[in-house]
Amino acid sequence: LLLLLVLFTCALIFLCYRRYHSASIIKFLVENAIKQNHLIPYYQAIVDANKQQICGYEVLIRWETKKGKVILPDEFIPQCEANGVITPLTFQLINTVAKDIRKLEMLHHGKPLPYYFSINLSASVLQDPELVKITRNALLHYKVKAHNLAFELTERAPIKNIELASHVCQKLNDMGIQIKLDDVGNGYCDFLALQKLQATTIKIDKRFIDELDYNNKNTIVRSLVAFADKAEVEVVAEGVETIEQAECLLTMGVHYHQGFLYSKPQPFTKILKKYQSKDVI
Ligand code: C2E
Ligand code: CA
Ligand code: CA
Ligand code: CA
Repeated sequence: LLLLLVLFTCALIFLCYRRYHSASIIKFLVENAIKQNHLIPYYQAIVDANKQQICGYEVLIRWETKKGKVILPDEFIPQCEANGVITPLTFQLINTVAKDIRKLEMLHHGKPLPYYFSINLSASVLQDPELVKITRNALLHYKVKAHNLAFELTERAPIKNIELASHVCQKLNDMGIQIKLDDVGNGYCDFLALQKLQATTIKIDKRFIDELDYNNKNTIVRSLVAFADKAEVEVVAEGVETIEQAECLLTMGVHYHQGFLYSKPQPFTKILKKYQSKDVI
């Protein structure tokens, strides 16, 4: 009985220890992954469905482990946001993306690419004035034009210091970098927020695209489109999976689409191969 009691106590202590330390273990693992370049960008095309042309890419992070397993962002980004590692992670990503853009340009004799590469920004990173410096240096270092880079801000997490975020966005905007508001429809998006963040685009969240139907009034998407019209911003629909959804969106005037119907997120090697086989983009 005593042995059981000792074992039980040990197990309890171990569980408490694990729970208490899991946050710092994740922090440690992510910091290591950053050092070893295991956090890498995947790219998903954003297309102009009217012209049937790619107009940009969203940068979606993946954690590739030594054993070749790919971990999706939902499994580690929330923890990185909570422990602050999201900032060095994002800063490294900005540099990697700038480097990748340069590599694509070099395939075409250094000619600027007609695409933007949109990087996701967590609210805390947007409120960090270092962001401007890091971005400017990355663009200079890799000789990349500002219009090739964009940032998207999720609507899920509230921005605590809107004035500071607005100031950072102003500086990014002055550099020529576009700001997009992500996951619109999930939170709080109004004229003032768009204006303060200098956003030029809203992205409609996948869950509203999932519900699109010809026989429906599609009220939510329609009102978001009407709002975007009034605010004079562009609209991108995310998570477009079927031809029916794409056609429905086109009838509502939404022609920028992103989703598995067109392409899944792909590693840079795949994007590179695609462009190696083309002479002119
Ligand atoms: P998000 O910004 O809303 O990105 C879109 C998500 O939808 C991506 O998931 C993408 O792979 C997925 N998706 C796109 N088209 C389709 C489709 O047709 N069907 C389905 N079922 N899914 C589609 P992913 O890559 O797992 O990323 C999840 C979230 O993680 C992102 O949601 C974004 O909020 C966050 N995230 C990703 N990379 C970063 C990053 O570098 N920094 C930060 N802060 N967040 C990131
Ligand atoms: Ca996004
Ligand atoms: Ca999104
Ligand atoms: Ca989303």
